[in-house]
Amino acid sequence: MKPFKLEDFARKNVLQMKPYSSARDEFGEQRADWIYLDANENPYPSAVNRYPDPLQKEFKQELSQLRGIAPEQILIGNGSDEILDLIFRAFAEPYQDRLLTFPPTYGMYQVLADLNAVEVLEAPLDPETFDLNFERIDAQLKRAPKLICLPNPNNPSGNGWPIATIEKLLQRATGIVVIDEAYIDFAPFESALSLLSSYPNLIVSQTFSKAFGLAGARLGIAYASTEIIGLLNRIKPPYNINALSQAEGIACLKDRKKRDTHIKTILEERDRMELFFNDLNFVKKIFKSDANFILMRVDDAQRRYHQFLEAGIVLRNRSRQLHCENTVRISIGTPQENSKLMEVCKQLDLS
Ligand SMILES: *Cc1c(COP(=O)(O)O)cnc(C)c1O
Repeated sequence: MKPFKLEDFARKNVLQMKPYSSARDEFGEQRADWIYLDANENPYPSAVNRYPDPLQKEFKQELSQLRGIAPEQILIGNGSDEILDLIFRAFAEPYQDRLLTFPPTYGMYQVLADLNAVEVLEAPLDPETFDLNFERIDAQLKRAPKLICLPNPNNPSGNGWPIATIEKLLQRATGIVVIDEAYIDFAPFESALSLLSSYPNLIVSQTFSKAFGLAGARLGIAYASTEIIGLLNRIKPPYNINALSQAEGIACLKDRKKRDTHIKTILEERDRMELFFNDLNFVKKIFKSDANFILMRVDDAQRRYHQFLEAGIVLRNRSRQLHCENTVRISIGTPQENSKLMEVCKQLDLS
């Protein structure tokens, strides 16, 4: 790759626009003994009568310590949804640029491509193994996609790739590469964060929705070069992370023990479920998972899906996705929830 220049990738209008400057942008510091008459807020105290910190400084300090990445290289979004949305709006020129994806993959990439009038190029994963296929990837890279989005571990298949494979992709890519690490804290392999210093076109996105247990707070993260984060900061809504979510995120980061215990239990439960599913007649194949869910092929996904629903258990039928005929995706629940699922499975296996 030739030397990375942000101007070659960012949309011209984004580079040229003047960002909105909020009251709290112009005056970042918050001191309890000062009187704030700058933002037309209601002065009577409640948990949320003041606008939140637009740059989430305390939150980023905590994250920085956990992940070993400088705060200037971190952007917090209203879920990964907002992170991805900002990336598309910053880089993808409508009716001109292309996105490369690796089906079966996460549904939001196609949605964002459609919304931004971006053509989607596909390099499908191999059937049955769901492995990356570099012949197909190389063929599509000839069309110079501006954006490349890969979940690692992948959703819906559940498998992922070691850092050497991610680096192999980065070595060939000429666009912005987004490695979507929503499930990385369940994976047995390393995050791509350590590649940030070598690849200025890399964005690693993570989320608080899965291992951190805060899906309702909507907290997504982008890690990238200071330049890319600066560009995304220009276009994000000023107060994109509300005060309640910031407080939840900070509390969660400080409680490392609780998070570690949850992850450990979920992984033990995943092993227990895999072993159990192995012995069922209606289960035809269990795909290897590096995440907190299991994709499995059954005899008749439509029929089984509805049987589980009748028993009060909601699964995800993924049969319409490429290479996923007759599959259901099962999130790992609490030990009690999983045991209930197993009971239902035993009954279904007789029918
Ligand atoms: C669940 C998931 C996310 C999380 O999205 P949020 O908006 O942060 O909740 C992101 N990417 C993938 C691949 C996912 O499966």
